Amino acid sequence: MLKRLPITFWATVFVAVVCLSLLAIDGWRSLNARGELLAASERATANLARSMAQHADDTITAADTVLLDIVERIESDGGLAPDAVSQQRLHRLMVAQVARLPQLNGLFVYDDAGRWVVNSRPVMNLAYNNADREYFEYHRTHSDSGPHIGVPVVSRSTGKWILPVSRRLKRPDGSFAGVALATIELDYFDRFYRSLDVGQRGAVALLHKEGTMLVRRPFDENRVGVSIVNTPIYRQFSASRQDGGGSFRSTQDGELRLNSYRVLERYPLFVTAALSRDEVLEGWRRDTLLHSFGVLLLALLLGLFGKRLIQQMELRLQAEQELLQARDALESLNRTLEKLALQDGLTGLANRRQFDVTLGKEFARAGRDGSELAFIMLDVDCFKQYNDLYGHSAGDDCLRAISKTIRAQTPKRPGDLAARYGGEEVGVLLPQTGVAGAQAVAERIRKAIEELRIPHAGGPAGVVTVSAGVAALVPQPGSGPSAATALVEAADQALYAAKAAGRNRVHCAA
Ligand code: GH3
Ligand code: MG
Ligand code: MG
Repeated sequence: MLKRLPITFWATVFVAVVCLSLLAIDGWRSLNARGELLAASERATANLARSMAQHADDTITAADTVLLDIVERIESDGGLAPDAVSQQRLHRLMVAQVARLPQLNGLFVYDDAGRWVVNSRPVMNLAYNNADREYFEYHRTHSDSGPHIGVPVVSRSTGKWILPVSRRLKRPDGSFAGVALATIELDYFDRFYRSLDVGQRGAVALLHKEGTMLVRRPFDENRVGVSIVNTPIYRQFSASRQDGGGSFRSTQDGELRLNSYRVLERYPLFVTAALSRDEVLEGWRRDTLLHSFGVLLLALLLGLFGKRLIQQMELRLQAEQELLQARDALESLNRTLEKLALQDGLTGLANRRQFDVTLGKEFARAGRDGSELAFIMLDVDCFKQYNDLYGHSAGDDCLRAISKTIRAQTPKRPGDLAARYGGEEVGVLLPQTGVAGAQAVAERIRKAIEELRIPHAGGPAGVVTVSAGVAALVPQPGSGPSAATALVEAADQALYAAKAAGRNRVHCAA
């Protein structure tokens, strides 16, 4: 079944397979490149988050260490005594520490009513009261000593956005004595975050574990301190509270980003680093588009070229087919022509030309073999009259009927041949046959024709009859065509004798 399909079908399949493979391989390569790009971006955001977490940890730890030192001093000095000397010493220490640590905006100590007691400012404004601040309220109501990271606020002393890191001051009896506060400039984080390469549409942020935004790049005042508990990334983070990541659409600007988040080691904070997925894939998209276009064009050209080639192939096959058909037709025509050239048109018997050729051949053969060759000459009796009585056309029909009978009665051995010799004369050539055998054949023919009972009012028997002359001889080896003519003439003479003897009979040559 498969073998019977034409070669052009397989060529079409081949071209289609090549084109499709080209497209499939390119598609697969593109998808692979995309996957690798996304994986690399994931690694990049994870690394960013790691360094951000380290940075935040280090920044806060440095400030908190100073704070711890201050708390330690105050508590070992016996609390917030209005001792001018110790306060001045504390003030000097604070000024020195703020100058030393670039992230420190200021250091402050408040009493249990929120009043400024001592700080790192050159001039102390005692009119300020910070009892309303969140961290103050926290320490007043919580007894833990550990650092408290508050919600960013605008500093009352410098007007800058700051992140408050605070510790509780306690009296020897453990009761609330005030708050020691270190403020870290959000600008310090912002500067670092701006130095990170997250593209045009990437984002990084420092967040509180409870779901509050602290700092974000790009920096936006309105986002500081805002709750993010309803964002998809926070929902995923809060489920495990461990390092992780994923693709999330920003609730703020709608950008789809590849996020990594990481928890700080020492503080209840976490950081996120995110690259814009569109931005990451931008180059890949452009490349893929260009590449796909090229490959598509190539496949198209290949397809068109293949189609053209297959068409040519089809045309050639068709031409070949037509050529074969033409050859067959020609051969069959040749055979017909050959037959026509050797056949008599009216009777369908061999014609005179074939007879002459066969006679020559058989004569030579008989000469070589030393065998006998017989010849019968048949002639319709009173046929002129038949034509006159029944018309020429009826004469033709009669000739056809007689010829058919002669053919039927002639032996079918190779070399036996019945041919129309003349107008209404038929010769029968019988190789390897003697006079007696030929006479028997002639008699059979004569009888068969008589038995056709074709009415002939002018004939001797009232029906159409034939007379026959029979002759046979063994040709002399090397004898020429004249010897063959002699055989025909002998039969002709015997025929003449049969006519003379009254027709409808067979005579043999003497
Ligand atoms: P005989 O008995 O002596 O042979 O008398 P006959 O009339 O047959 O004499 P002959 O053999 O000489 O006559 C030949 C006639 O056969 C002449 C012609 O009208 C007729 N004839 C020859 N060829 C054709 C033919 O193809 N068609 C028809 N209808 N008649 C033919
Ligand atoms: Mg005749
Ligand atoms: Mg005749």
